[in-house]
Amino acid sequence: GLADKLQQTFKKLRGRGKLSESDVNDALREVRMALLEADVNFKVVKDFVAKVKERAIGHEVLESLTPAQQVVKIVNDELTALMGGTMSRIAISPKPPTVVMLVGLQGAGKTTTAGKLALLLKKQNKRPLLVAADIYRPAAIKQLEVLGEKLEIPVFTLGDKEKPVVIAKKAIEHAQAYANDIVIIDTAGRLHINAELMDELKSVKQTVRPHEILLVVDAMTGQDAVTVAESFNNDLGLDGVILTKLDGDARGGAALSVKAVTGCPIKFAGMGEKLEALEPFHPDRMASRILGMGDVLSLIEKAEQAIDFDKAQALEKKLRKEEFTLDDFLDQLQQVRKLGSLDQILGMIPGMGGLTKKLQGAELDEKQLKQVEAIIRSMTRKERRDPNIINGSRRKRIAAGSGTRVQDVNRLLKQFVDARKMMKQLQQHQKSGKKGGFKL
Ligand code: GDP
Ligand code: MG
Repeated sequence: GLADKLQQTFKKLRGRGKLSESDVNDALREVRMALLEADVNFKVVKDFVAKVKERAIGHEVLESLTPAQQVVKIVNDELTALMGGTMSRIAISPKPPTVVMLVGLQGAGKTTTAGKLALLLKKQNKRPLLVAADIYRPAAIKQLEVLGEKLEIPVFTLGDKEKPVVIAKKAIEHAQAYANDIVIIDTAGRLHINAELMDELKSVKQTVRPHEILLVVDAMTGQDAVTVAESFNNDLGLDGVILTKLDGDARGGAALSVKAVTGCPIKFAGMGEKLEALEPFHPDRMASRILGMGDVLSLIEKAEQAIDFDKAQALEKKLRKEEFTLDDFLDQLQQVRKLGSLDQILGMIPGMGGLTKKLQGAELDEKQLKQVEAIIRSMTRKERRDPNIINGSRRKRIAAGSGTRVQDVNRLLKQFVDARKMMKQLQQHQKSGKKGGFKL
């Protein structure tokens, strides 16, 4: 992927010590290739490389003691700028309700995102109302109702007989009557952009005057996502973009081009199918993630949301005293499950990007978690505290006791050792106080 390519490029650069202009040029040629392969818009790449080059060939870099680091920093700065520089929030209206209208093509993730966004806002003590304005697929209304029920968030619907404009208008009256301060309208999509769709969305826009019109686009569609954004922006005017499915094998092109091409900031990123998997989009963190420097801040933020704080502190103490046991490991695994997939989590830790590849196929699903639990429960207390004593015959006994195979026990012990290392690393990073800083 993009991150791998860029990391390779910079690794080569780092091995050099002092850089010549041609070293920089070679590296930038590789950066250019990597961006194009990641499906970043051609013109965006051209401008980007020109900007980096102008800065990288200056005195401050070639004459500096750490030229490679300087180049990486410049690339990081420019990537951040490309994606809008700073985080963009949704504008909360001083006069409630704030009306947010989600638009986009079919399958982009509008309905799911409506639920995710409502949940995110609910956690910020807002009182969102979801509005089912996709009347073309009966299943769409049901889908939103099911989401609402799960999240305990009210859903406004008038069935599929009324026009979206009427539904939206009545929904806002309803919100006023029931003190819902945010109205999230889930609209219909089409497989392709057409006049009928745009006309319908325009009339909703004219009637309810949303504070935010957010386009939901699928990051996996790469350049198409950018084209779609351009055309919705021209026809409807957008306040921002929500990029979904960034958890999949999206090559990054959409994230890097949307702002530069359309001028619309990316406000949120969908990172998975789970309803918690919507994050405010931070250009700087995304840039670090692309450069493979991990995203410790996001991870810590997420962990703070999902992990029991007292437990986390107790754990930190244990880590410091190197008393982290298999019991703690099991506990951690269970907490980590709340954060998302193991892949996703490891991807956010500096230097762990590579490990996710190794762990692929070893994804932590419910069944495996049960197995891990069984194995740990089959160990004696002493073994759990000091896994070093678990020799061959103990491994056999544990496997038999938990109904697993010796290789399962071996794998678990290895994962435990890796996890312990990983957490130590994370801790050191925190201690060094480098908030989103560089670790080269
Ligand atoms: P809509 O037609 O635009 O309303 O799209 P839906 O909300 O029905 O979503 C289409 C599919 O995309 C569903 O299977 C969702 O679970 C999936 N989806 C939505 N957002 C994400 C995301 O951020 N990551 C992943 N992996 N899947 C997503
Ligand atoms: Mg939908």
